[in-house]
Amino acid sequence: MAKTGTQSSCSKALLAWYDRYRRVLPWRAPAGHRAEPYHVWLSEIMLQQTTVQAVGAYFRKFLQRWPTVEDLAAAPQDEVLAAWAGLGYYARARNLHKAAKVVAEEMGGRFPDTAEALRALPGVGVYTAGAIAAIAFDRQEVAMDANAERVVARLYAIQTPLPAGKAEMIIKGRALVPAKRAGDFAQAMMDLGSAICTPKRPSCGQCPLEEMCEATKLGIAETLPVKGPKMVRPLRRGAAFVVRDETGAVLLVKRPEKGLLGSMLQPPLGPWTEQFPKRAEALGQAPFEADWKKLPGIVRHGFTHFELEIELWVAAVTKHPKTIQDCHSRPSRAQRGEGKGTQVEMSGKSQKEKTIHTETRRRGERLSALDKDGAASLPGSPSLGAEEGASPGMTEILWVATEELASVALPTVMRKIISHALVEEGPLFRAGNKA
Ligand code: SF4
Repeated sequence: MAKTGTQSSCSKALLAWYDRYRRVLPWRAPAGHRAEPYHVWLSEIMLQQTTVQAVGAYFRKFLQRWPTVEDLAAAPQDEVLAAWAGLGYYARARNLHKAAKVVAEEMGGRFPDTAEALRALPGVGVYTAGAIAAIAFDRQEVAMDANAERVVARLYAIQTPLPAGKAEMIIKGRALVPAKRAGDFAQAMMDLGSAICTPKRPSCGQCPLEEMCEATKLGIAETLPVKGPKMVRPLRRGAAFVVRDETGAVLLVKRPEKGLLGSMLQPPLGPWTEQFPKRAEALGQAPFEADWKKLPGIVRHGFTHFELEIELWVAAVTKHPKTIQDCHSRPSRAQRGEGKGTQVEMSGKSQKEKTIHTETRRRGERLSALDKDGAASLPGSPSLGAEEGASPGMTEILWVATEELASVALPTVMRKIISHALVEEGPLFRAGNKA
């Protein structure tokens, strides 16, 4: 499509501005050079739902550890998840690993060079495919992230509220992309939205597009893009159970592969409902009977679709439950007999188990596989201590030494919970390893 004069002057002005003010970012190639597709893909997956500031340290860590897509593909998934821990939206990490395998094993280590083919990779949607195709291969593709959306909405004074307005923004944005330097143009839009065309108080006086900007002429720049009604996020509440053994190691369980925080680790949890469980209810949700103490305070965490508040219960044990079934398939009070003692019998450590346990504390590896029979997953429930006493799809338990907690696959919410429970230990998770 032939470009109008305005479209052409807009892209020229923006590229000239970019040549002067482009940001230096760890994944960007120097001016005049084509970026490495692996770097572009890795950074774009990390940047989905996450800020440039948060991504920098993770990007460097991944490249240092897995310099090529083949290295990443060959890594165990648990190691990739552990390295991702703190960055959030963990489905991205699982898809990242799957896509690395596809590229390494089925494509000879070469990323596809069109947006259409890139979209076939796990975790690559319309925006990401456009961004990689433009930045890594200079394809004439549009990359409409939130920054670019804002610039285009203002440039054309698009007042249709999001998400309906997005289609128009993409059409207008695509028409601006020049035939040459499409990658620089995509990054220029991102930089302009980040530095000049900011959500509040845009610096229109310093903007290379000021003379062409409809929203500035109308005096409505700050009102655009128009957002749809804000979604009210429901509040869920529950209990977490932080258990330590005589060495101080913490009991963790691995979540099922599918669903919220899939394949990540957590301390045992009760179900998340509208209200906190009362004392007797919480003790019924505990993974086993012990001298549970409730800690003062609450841990809060915001997920995309709900807010979470967690109360904490802590206990120390001298023997390990052998499997998660030992934790949850305890006899009912009737089966045990009322008044005949309340301590559930837990298996002692065999010599073999002891060895694995020691290795687990050293390397954060698996303690023991679990019997999945009868493990009834509750749809949508992220909990371990489900109402039926089942373990919904939990597959592994581990005892992890406190000094190893920062290097295992614990999502931010679980780090908050453990930090709160072990507050006397000092900072467990250092800056740069958190989202
Ligand atoms: S003139 Fe202002 S509102 Fe328009 S694109 Fe530039 S910074 Fe954004």
